[in-house]
Amino acid sequence: MTDLHGRSVVVTGGARGIGAAVAHTLAKSGAGVVVADLLEREGRDTAAAIGTQAMFCHLDVTDESEWRRVLDDAEANFGPLAVLVNNAGILDFGGVESESPSQFRHVLDVNLVGSWLGMHLAAPRLRAAGDGVIVNVSSTAGLIGYSGIAGYVASKWGLRGLTKAAALELGAAGIRVCSVHPGPIRTPMTAAMDPSVAAGQPLARFGEPEEVAAMVGFVVTEATFSTGSEFVLDGGATAGA
Ligand code: NDP
Repeated sequence: MTDLHGRSVVVTGGARGIGAAVAHTLAKSGAGVVVADLLEREGRDTAAAIGTQAMFCHLDVTDESEWRRVLDDAEANFGPLAVLVNNAGILDFGGVESESPSQFRHVLDVNLVGSWLGMHLAAPRLRAAGDGVIVNVSSTAGLIGYSGIAGYVASKWGLRGLTKAAALELGAAGIRVCSVHPGPIRTPMTAAMDPSVAAGQPLARFGEPEEVAAMVGFVVTEATFSTGSEFVLDGGATAGA
């Protein structure tokens, strides 16, 4: 893995699930890792499990002033920002007719506007550092449609589009921007889901957070000629789409 000693990494939604696995994986690069999340106890536990090279910061991704504080703390403690992983997200059930306007706006606000805020504030810091990587955790819901989660699908397609726009704007500054598109992964978000969600796809199982983390680690440290690209890991769920 590329050596990121003396640099900082911010992982949103890093307290648990996919984000916690990503934080553990990116710590292997030598970077200082900021576990940024709403969840304090789980976030502190995740950072403590990584060691002194990690710290927890409270972050609501919809709050611009919290973003500024988290990025300041990351750079003050661990050095110039190298990587932002926009992983925090929520899944809200509701279709085009059944989802209320406030539900729809909220899922867009967290999953899309929250990630945009992070990119908006992190990009100048990466530019100043001379290089960097932004990984946006989208979903297969950013590649195809799903019934009954209209706001979620819209937010994840939006994040994929934002990734491409940012890649075009930031490439000349040495900043890569890619999206990762997991299928169903075994985390607290999917704990209540029917196992048949995974049974219908070619590999017929849920993926593990560590499998997503391995993909994110690859994008950050190995895929050095990739930007604006989608990295899919979905057990074959979109193979026939
Ligand atoms: P989890 O719900 O297990 O973890 C998400 C974390 O993000 C939680 O700690 C959550 O805190 C936090 N979070 C939620 N809202 C905010 C916010 N406004 N600011 C900061 N942190 C917040 O989810 P997963 O690990 O499963 O998912 C991580 C990402 O991967 C999400 O973007 C999700 O859409 C995406 N994804 C997940 C898939 C899956 O099958 N699990 C498949 C495809 C994509 P709290 O609990 O307090 O809300």
